[in-house]
Amino acid sequence: MNLTGFLPSLNSDQITKLESLADVFLEWNQKMNLSAIRDRDAVLLKHIVDSLLILPHGWIKDGDRVMDLGTGGGFPGLPLAIAYPKADFILVDATEKKVRAVQSMADQLGLKNVRCVAGRAEQLGRVDKYRETFDVVVARALAEFPTLLEYCLPFVKVGGKFIAYQGPELSQTWKQYQNVALELSGDITEVKGAILPVEKAKRCFVVVKKLRKIFGKYPRRTGVPKKEPLG
Ligand code: SAH
Repeated sequence: MNLTGFLPSLNSDQITKLESLADVFLEWNQKMNLSAIRDRDAVLLKHIVDSLLILPHGWIKDGDRVMDLGTGGGFPGLPLAIAYPKADFILVDATEKKVRAVQSMADQLGLKNVRCVAGRAEQLGRVDKYRETFDVVVARALAEFPTLLEYCLPFVKVGGKFIAYQGPELSQTWKQYQNVALELSGDITEVKGAILPVEKAKRCFVVVKKLRKIFGKYPRRTGVPKKEPLG
């Protein structure tokens, strides 16, 4: 599969790096189970192109500090770090061995703007150096939407945004979550549909702007945001 046609805003170095990412990811995925997707073209499409469907929106800027929460095998964080070499990326996952694999991938690719951190959202969200310090937080396939808001919004600085990679249903149902977003000092300001090429699968991006400082009680303790979602 040729990436260039799908990613017209990237230069040839970036395209080459994304192709190398597919190779490095496939190597690591053989050593440990990072993803059920094992075919190179499928990795290029379902992980790499899918991670970069946000590019046309221009939501990430040079100099931004960006967190990918629940990065798993490095998505969308690693492709975004290649697309935005002048932004700084912190990739977080609760599973330490995944974090070590993703940091190795970033190092193999020479990505100097990537740092991987092991930890849970509920705990790191209370650590001063992470709490309310990010211009942008992204997450794909991490949790159900209300849980996701409680995991992610504590990291976003006032005036910054959380971008959720979602399935198409959120373009219909997002209004029912606005009260949960507001309780967590967020405001759902944009909901944009997207289509994954080739497969023509529907996606949706939900942008939640951070309005003010979040209450000290959030995030609640480990396990509670998932077991007892707000709303
Ligand atoms: N974002 C990746 C992986 C999704 S799987 C992708 O789209 O391919 C969800 C990941 O979130 C898993 O790797 C899991 O370890 C991590 N995770 C789940 N709950 C978490 C939490 N509370 N804090 C941090 N990471 C979490």
